[in-house]
Amino acid sequence: MGNHFSADAIGLDVYMTSGGTDVFCEVIALAGTPVAETLWQQNLVLHFCDLERFRSGISGFDLAELPWTQTHRQEKDFFLDLLDRANHRIGWEKLHYTPTIDHNLGAFTQMLIAFHPSPTIDSDLGDWTIAPRPYFLDKCLRHTIFRGEFGCRLYDTWTQPSNAPFVWEVISTYSVDGTRNSEVVDRQVRQMPED
Ligand SMILES: [Zn+2]
Repeated sequence: MGNHFSADAIGLDVYMTSGGTDVFCEVIALAGTPVAETLWQQNLVLHFCDLERFRSGISGFDLAELPWTQTHRQEKDFFLDLLDRANHRIGWEKLHYTPTIDHNLGAFTQMLIAFHPSPTIDSDLGDWTIAPRPYFLDKCLRHTIFRGEFGCRLYDTWTQPSNAPFVWEVISTYSVDGTRNSEVVDRQVRQMPED
């Protein structure tokens, strides 16, 4: 089961599998957490930190459902900037895998570019001019993304060795070509100093 992201007003739709949705959310969390400054920006990034955590397959949304405000032009620019940062693989060294999501990122970006937001009345996603709960904005020490409502989405215990140190840093080095097929050539796990 997957998710539909849409812009019904202009007849566009991007379908992602559940796994594809997870990856999409992870690269946006990595790209967005360091640059989310305003309340709206923080809420947008948190939305992706918490999206599809329980694989419900109903996590998609229409772009018109986002809580756009009077400053929707800047909000859309910020969202496009996030997608661009993700396209440039910002933060991907923190991942345990090499994403192959060029298609989803590109399709979503094209849909957002074509979409014309206007202020939203009573969005089901909430009021993004209100500050998120402070602990949602705590950052995972290991992955440096917002923990969100459900904890760091990159902390997937299935991929961790049982004797793994509680806090560490993963440094991945990719082969040089930077294409979607580039392989991890080196991965260092550094335990952070106690204290
Ligand atoms: Zn984490």
